[in-house]
Amino acid sequence: MSTLDPADWSALRALGHQMLDDMVDHLATLREGPVWRPMPAPVCEGFTAPIPALGTPPEALYARFQTDIQPYVTGNTHPRFMGWVHGGGNPVSMLAEFLAGAMNANCGGRDHAGIAVERQVIGWAAEMLGMPAQTTGVLLTGSSMANFVAVLCARYKALGQQGRREGVQGAKLTAYASAGVHRCVPGALDMAGLGSDALRRIPVDENFQMDLPALRAAIAADKAAGCAPFLIVGTAGTVDVGAFDDLTALADIAVEEDAWFHVDGAFGALAVLSPALKPATAGIERADSVAFDFHKWAQVTYDAGCVLVRDPAVELATFAQATNYLAAAPRGLAGGAPWPCDLGPDLSRGFRALKVWMTLSAYGTEALGRVVDDTCALAQRLAAAISTSNRLTLLAPVKLNIVCFGVAGFTDAQTENLVADLQEEGLFAPSTTTINGRLAIRAAIVNHRTSADDIDALVAEILRRA
Ligand SMILES: *Cc1c(COP(=O)(O)O)cnc(C)c1O
Repeated sequence: MSTLDPADWSALRALGHQMLDDMVDHLATLREGPVWRPMPAPVCEGFTAPIPALGTPPEALYARFQTDIQPYVTGNTHPRFMGWVHGGGNPVSMLAEFLAGAMNANCGGRDHAGIAVERQVIGWAAEMLGMPAQTTGVLLTGSSMANFVAVLCARYKALGQQGRREGVQGAKLTAYASAGVHRCVPGALDMAGLGSDALRRIPVDENFQMDLPALRAAIAADKAAGCAPFLIVGTAGTVDVGAFDDLTALADIAVEEDAWFHVDGAFGALAVLSPALKPATAGIERADSVAFDFHKWAQVTYDAGCVLVRDPAVELATFAQATNYLAAAPRGLAGGAPWPCDLGPDLSRGFRALKVWMTLSAYGTEALGRVVDDTCALAQRLAAAISTSNRLTLLAPVKLNIVCFGVAGFTDAQTENLVADLQEEGLFAPSTTTINGRLAIRAAIVNHRTSADDIDALVAEILRRA
C-alpha cells in the first residue's frame, strides 16, 4: 500500500500538539521578537536544493521550519508592522486554517457544508455593505482577483455572450478611476483583453478624491471620439492615502451613462463597521460590484479576498460554462447549483470561507468595527505627533488609517535609507510611497495589535535618527 498516512498516528499527533503549543506561544510573544529580519545567505541557499526523491520525517521538517522559515517571514503579525496595507491575522483564523486543512474540502462546487458556509459569508458581506439580499459573490485570493472578476462582469454587461465567445474584437470600451487607483485595476483591464490604456485616470482634488467635473469631461471626450464608457471604478480607501471617492456621485454618473459601477474597497469597505466612518462609504450599497479583502482590516489570515455582484444573473452569465463532467444534478452530491466555479474563474478552490466565517462569528462586527476605529485613532495620534514636531511634516491629509509623512530636509535617498534601516534592524516596518513627487514614509496602521506605545515609539525613533 502506498498510503501517505502513518501506520501509527501517535508520533504525528504528538508533533501536531507541539506545533500548536509553539504557534500559540509565537502569537502570544510576538512583541518580544523583531518585526522582520532579512534571510541570511545560507538560509536562502537552503531553498535552492533539488526536489527530494526520498522523504524526510515531519519532525525534521518542523525543526527546519523553526530555524529557516518562521524567523524570516513578512512580519505583518507584529504590532510594529505598519507597511503597505497588511492585516495582522487572528488566532481563531489560524485554527480555522488547520480545520480547513483537515477537511480538505473542494469548494468549487457540489452540495456540502463548505458551499453553505461560503454562501453565508457572501450574504453577511452583502448585508454589511448594505447591498440587496440576492447579491452573489465568491471568495478569492484577494482584491486583485476580485477587481478582475468585477471587470469581467462589466465587460459581459457591455459585450454579452458574444464578447465571451469572440473576444473584445477591438471594442473601444473605456473605464474611469481616480489617479489614486490601485495598480490591479489597470492590470484587470489588461487581463480582460481591453488593455490597460482603456483606463482613464481622473485627477484628484486636494482631498485625493476623484474630480467629478474632470470625470464628466473625460467621458464626454471619449464618447465624442467613438469610445464606449462601460465602467466607473470608485475607490473606497486608496492605497496611498486612504481617500474615499464620492461614491454616491459616481453611482449617479454611472446610471446616467449606463455604465457598470464598481467599488474597489480592498480595505476601506470595512469602514462600514465603524459608525464614525460609515458616512464616508455612502454609495457603496449602490455598486454593481464591490471588491474587498477580509485579510486586511478584518484580520482574517491570508488569503481572503471577496467580490460581490449585485445582479446574480450577470455573475453567472459571465463565468458559467456547460461541461458534461461538471454538470449539476437535481439531487445528490452534484446538487446545489449554482456553484462557485460558475461565479468566478476558479474550479478547484479551498475552504477559504471557514476562516472568514469563524473570524466574523468569533469576534462579531462590533469588535471588528472597534479595530477599524482604533487603528484610525492611532493614525490621528501619529498625525498629531507629526504636526507638533518641527522635524516632521505631514504629506497628505489623514482621513483613515494611513499616515504619509517626511523628515524636514531629508532627500528621497535619506528617507529610503531611514525606512530600510528601521526594517532591517527589526524595529518597525513602515513602507514608502511618493506623494506629489516626494518620497514619503508611509505608516498604514491595520494591525489590531498595534498600540499607542508603538506609535509613540515610532515617532521617538524617527526623531532620534532625524
Ligand atoms: C490591497 C489593495 C488591493 C489589492 O488587494 P490584494 O488583496 O493585495 O490583491 C487593491 N486595491 C486597494 C485599494 C488595496 O488597498
